[in-house]
Amino acid sequence: MQIRDRYAPSPTGLQHIGGVRTALFNYLFAHSQEGAFVLRLEDTDRTRSDPAFVHNLYETCAWLGISWDEGPDIGGPYAPYIQSERLELYKRRARELIAADKAYYCFCSPERLETIRQEREASRSRETGYDRHCRSIPKAEAAARAASGEPCVIRLAIPLDKTTTFHDRLLGTIEWKNEDINPDPVLLKTDGFPTYHLANVVDDHHMGITHVLRAQEWLPSTPLHVILYASFGWTPPEFCHLPMVMGPDGKKLSKRHGATSIDELRRQGYVSEALVNYVALLGASYEEGKDFYTCAELAACFSLDKLNKAPAVFDYKKLAWYNASYIRMKTNEELARLALPFAVEAGIFGKTGQEPDAEQKRIFIEAMSLVKERATFLTDIPSKIAYLFSAPVLPDASEFFPKKADAHALSNAIELLTVGKNLVSRMAVMTEADAEAFIKAEAENAGVKPGDLLMPLRVAVTGARVSPPLFGSLRLLGAEASVLRVERALAKLTSDSV
Ligand code: GLU
Ligand code: ZN
Repeated sequence: MQIRDRYAPSPTGLQHIGGVRTALFNYLFAHSQEGAFVLRLEDTDRTRSDPAFVHNLYETCAWLGISWDEGPDIGGPYAPYIQSERLELYKRRARELIAADKAYYCFCSPERLETIRQEREASRSRETGYDRHCRSIPKAEAAARAASGEPCVIRLAIPLDKTTTFHDRLLGTIEWKNEDINPDPVLLKTDGFPTYHLANVVDDHHMGITHVLRAQEWLPSTPLHVILYASFGWTPPEFCHLPMVMGPDGKKLSKRHGATSIDELRRQGYVSEALVNYVALLGASYEEGKDFYTCAELAACFSLDKLNKAPAVFDYKKLAWYNASYIRMKTNEELARLALPFAVEAGIFGKTGQEPDAEQKRIFIEAMSLVKERATFLTDIPSKIAYLFSAPVLPDASEFFPKKADAHALSNAIELLTVGKNLVSRMAVMTEADAEAFIKAEAENAGVKPGDLLMPLRVAVTGARVSPPLFGSLRLLGAEASVLRVERALAKLTSDSV
């Protein structure tokens, strides 16, 4: 039997970590089994569904590299894959349940339902939900009323005094007393739209879904779904409710803990490999001691047996570590491509939004090897190398000499910088190793430590005491610009000293 699973989001919000985890696990499971992964849009909530969120779904999945074998955009044997385009099917199926006495028409007005709710509240009754009022209307009478156009919904007749049992691949056998299930939930609304329960079950059946991997938040709906499958006479798929994703405080992951929408994480400078890698480990354990997995490796080793029952804790620090690691693994070209939009936005090539010219682009690409080791997020990159594209604002003179300075510190710094000025144009054309040896020898000649010689040079060239590697920076700036920067710093220090 071919494995078929699905991601069935409702386009009522941005894609977030929880949703993407579900999508990814279904994708990986299908791939690990040579099965098919289906995308289905559950857009039956007409007030909350929004095409902008569908767009966000496609964008997010494309960015993460999650693709499907069948879906609204590419079609497939069970098209359409958008629930709002399948309404006739749900109506037909709901009516079949009525014919089989598994469901019934309910004519109660919203006012009546509200009155029951208030009465119960006043009498402190523990009963909740619908009072099954219309379940006893004779079938022929109900059919006639519905046929005459009286507004009505269709409700599922939950079998009374029974227990519903099902098997969850991760959680084992689950028993639910029917009296604890929402009394006779609505399947088809007055406007002819199905509720989530009906559409979800009908589609999973019609689309041949064999495995339902979904967030544990949906577990309370499952007994109801199991009753629906039984009412139709269908075999339910295998269920596997994925472990909850918690914040570090043990509460369900939410915006309070940090960014949860993928869009926002992307804007914060995360790379997709880091997210895929980290999210794939949320609630699953693969090889001991192995941290890095490509999507293909994950698909090869994914197995439901490797899922954990315990909730997963989302650790932003760990994610940041993955991000820094993946940034380091990128080639200069790859990293430059990813970091460029952030650099353009930060305006390091001129005004905000200005694209680099060809020469700036060349320098930008090469500069990636200077920052790779120092960036945790793509957003860290522009400010770290902005000095390569325009002369930095020079800091206070005291930044040019050691922290423990004496009365001669400024004149010393000027002296060192003057020595340095004559060296930079040569260092700018050397390899890193040659420049290193060269400065060592020159420092010795001048009777100073190499570090003392380099520190004011670094501040003059990059504008800061802590910066990407100096030799590499000189090479990218070229001899002429390097010398100009040192002269500029000397002018500042000299004017400060008078
Ligand atoms: N439409 C539901 C959601 O938004 C699907 C839940 C399920 O997978 O059954 O997550
Ligand atoms: Zn009713």
